[in-house]
Amino acid sequence: MPLYYTIDTKMNAIASISNIIQPRKVEQVVDAINRAQNIVITTHRSPDGDALGSSLALYHFLQRSRKNVKIIVPNSFPYFLKWMSGAREIEIYEYNPTAAQHILMHADLIFSLDYNISKRVGEMAPFLDKSPARKILIDHHLLPGENFDITLSYPEISSTSELLFRLFYQAGKYEELTQVEAECIYCGMMTDTGSFTYNSSDPEIFEIISLLLRKNIDKDTIYSQVFDNYSEARFRLLGFTLSQRMEVYPELHSALLYLSKEDQAQFRFSKGDTEGFVNYPLSIRGILFSTFIREDDDLVKLSFRSLKSFPCNEFAANYFHGGGHLNASGGEFYGTFEEAIRIFKDGLKSYEEILKSIATGL
Ligand code: 5GP
Ligand code: MN
Repeated sequence: MPLYYTIDTKMNAIASISNIIQPRKVEQVVDAINRAQNIVITTHRSPDGDALGSSLALYHFLQRSRKNVKIIVPNSFPYFLKWMSGAREIEIYEYNPTAAQHILMHADLIFSLDYNISKRVGEMAPFLDKSPARKILIDHHLLPGENFDITLSYPEISSTSELLFRLFYQAGKYEELTQVEAECIYCGMMTDTGSFTYNSSDPEIFEIISLLLRKNIDKDTIYSQVFDNYSEARFRLLGFTLSQRMEVYPELHSALLYLSKEDQAQFRFSKGDTEGFVNYPLSIRGILFSTFIREDDDLVKLSFRSLKSFPCNEFAANYFHGGGHLNASGGEFYGTFEEAIRIFKDGLKSYEEILKSIATGL
């Protein structure tokens, strides 16, 4: 793998970051930005830390480059991501679809960050597809869609934010990167790796963190803003879910968390309150696969997490038209909550052999 060395004389930093992005693609993106004036950044429904971190870092970078730039997200996002600089300037499609459609149709360049196909932006998708703008995908999910002019799809990279950093770095823009941009990138890298507890053994991740720290970011404060920011209601909902709404199937090395609308109402549920719940059962000895099923207004939302080689993206695709990564995936179900739970349980049985063989290391 060719290495790209930076010697920063001012700060004595020497980093070796591989040129994972093909140099030709870096040039294409830089050229597309240079030619564009009205740029729109989009990301997936229910944006998470990586979706918002990468979008905001690119937003600030483009603003500094004197572009007219807007971020449009399909729906709102949780309060523990609102501290990021620029978060309050984000347009939320659901709140004003007509205005957002107008922006999309008049853009000359659209970035799609942290999703692979336009279906992931929900009701915004037809307008994204119809827009005459050039389109650039920057993403780390498998199976990128075809309707992009430039595709930067690297599923082996653990976050879109890391990928965006690599793009900046390879384009020779590290020196000019600001503290705010570095904060947004760090937030995305941190949230998509469970605070560097999974998908994060590549030493270059820590080289990148080191380069971000040199921009004077305070990583401990970033952690606290995201993870030490529970409302009392959210914290109690977590306790309730773990004690009253968890089923553990030791022989299947699996666990299920589930919350009905009634349960959520009891704890004054607000957006993002259940973010991260699905990870907890993986802390139980022997559990390899965790599922969280939440009844929403007009659909049932499912989240899956796994350890080792259990393919929760395949499980999501097989039973819930979903997808994602090997160890973190999701899906949606249009039917009743009870039906979703039943389909999950039936599906789980057919994975019994696979789960047992992974658990025993065979
Ligand atoms: P979460 O459980 O945090 O909502 O989602 C985890 C990962 O699963 C996301 O990063 C995304 O890759 C994937 N994912 C979540 N929901 C869906 C969905 O409805 N469809 C697809 N294709 N992927 C999803
Ligand atoms: Mn991501």
